[in-house]
Amino acid sequence: MLEPSESKKSYLSFVGGRDVPAQSGETIEVICPSNGRAFATIPRCREADVDSAVRTARKAFDEGPWPQMSATDRGRVLAKMSELILRDREKLARLEAMDVGKIYKSTFSDVTVLARYFEFYAGAADKLGGDVIPVANGYTAFTLREPLGVVGGILPWNAPTQMFGRSVSPALAMGNTVVLKPAEDACLTTLELAKLLMEAGLPEGVLNVVTGLGSEAGAALSGHPMLDFITFTGSPEVGAMVQQAAAANHVGVTLELGGKSPQIVFADADFEAALPVIANSIIVNSGQTCVAGSRLLVEEAALGPLQELFSVYFSKLAVGSHDADCDLGPLINAKQHRRVTGMIAAAREDGIAVLAEGSVAAGSSPDGFFVRPTLLGPVPRDNVLARREVFGPVLSLLPFKDERDGIALANDTPYGLAAGVWTRDVGRAMRTAKRVRAGQVYINGYGAGGGVELPFGGFKKSGHGREKGMEALHEFSATKTIVLTHGQ
Ligand code: NAP
Ligand code: MG
Repeated sequence: MLEPSESKKSYLSFVGGRDVPAQSGETIEVICPSNGRAFATIPRCREADVDSAVRTARKAFDEGPWPQMSATDRGRVLAKMSELILRDREKLARLEAMDVGKIYKSTFSDVTVLARYFEFYAGAADKLGGDVIPVANGYTAFTLREPLGVVGGILPWNAPTQMFGRSVSPALAMGNTVVLKPAEDACLTTLELAKLLMEAGLPEGVLNVVTGLGSEAGAALSGHPMLDFITFTGSPEVGAMVQQAAAANHVGVTLELGGKSPQIVFADADFEAALPVIANSIIVNSGQTCVAGSRLLVEEAALGPLQELFSVYFSKLAVGSHDADCDLGPLINAKQHRRVTGMIAAAREDGIAVLAEGSVAAGSSPDGFFVRPTLLGPVPRDNVLARREVFGPVLSLLPFKDERDGIALANDTPYGLAAGVWTRDVGRAMRTAKRVRAGQVYINGYGAGGGVELPFGGFKKSGHGREKGMEALHEFSATKTIVLTHGQ
């Protein structure tokens, strides 16, 4: 494992089964968020590099063999990939921790979920059948699921290994070829995984990775006329640009644009069970998760005891280096650090009380992008903290009166990605789950071991399209109808 003090390792993009530099020879430094030091470089790819990668993926799709292979054989490659990920789990988890600043426990769990993605879609590859459709006498009509072609994937930095699993494994299962543009802050495991897929038996050119800036390589990919589909995860602003670029080429997109997910706690809930799960939903990856439970909605009757429980919990949390024994690591980069600390400062200026905050672990580098976990409240319903994604370890507490008010408050943001409902009353749990506008609702829990099997995606500004589970296979394929005329 490379340490920051050693010389910088030069990573290369991966196109057509080979490591390639940017055609210009330019590079970007890779920074470790725990200490702000550069420890590697990646190529700064631009339009010409992206064009070469897309043409490579196009050729691999048009000439095969990947799309023509039986779904069972494609599944075998994915199954092998799952084994190789587990073989290299510690190495990948260490690299990911250093690159994105997550604590090792968290990246180890991410890599385990990544292996599960490949395992799930290995098994699912040959399970998606078509229909036989009754039509007029003299005909037999049936449907097949066919790959879309070349898929462009623009990925975020917050969970690179999981994002790789989420987008690449179902796309490959259906026989597509892929070009990925990982976030410039989080490329290293993606590049390692591309190579691992070769070892698993993936033909050259089926999976390609170009590194670079979003405004250069990302924009070139999303506007490339040879793509057949785009999958994007990131901010709503860039998501809209990607969708516009896709529209110009008449290709479909899935957009996953984050959330402002509520944890709705009724007064009859099991507080002791809820506390660590809710806290973890905003602490894991320092709040930089699309499904972060960033709004703690508390029924007024339980406000006092719950505020106390969460305050004690938050005050004991420690943020520190990815390789230290801490509860959470730094944020991804200086820009996100400025943004999140700025939002906390603005909340204070708005008169919102800091109910509790954690500490920065002793010995942490002054140059790391650390933000103390912070509990704020009560947050007024029209405050920015109640409505906008922070993407940091910041939990906003908002009281509500009763079930009706709680549901209205839960829905009072532009987003609709996930929600947690906490109550011992089954009827209330179901009524709330059905009325909250969110792609996933968890009752008396939050998350389910990575949720690879569970359809996932947003309502409202959280985006559209569904990933994970069997639904991802529909997104990454198209129905073809075949009608045989045979007479009566
Ligand atoms: P972002 O700009 O939307 O980045 C997401 C991806 O899009 C990255 O790969 C990025 O590349 C790329 N990109 C940037 N500009 C592009 C363009 N013009 N055309 C095509 N691709 C482009 O997100 P961010 O600035 O890193 O984060 C800002 C906020 O977005 C966060 O605070 C958070 O609220 C939200 N976010 C949400 C998620 C999520 O899981 N839903 C993930 C990340 C961020 P580069 O990074 O190399 O520029
Ligand atoms: Mg980094």
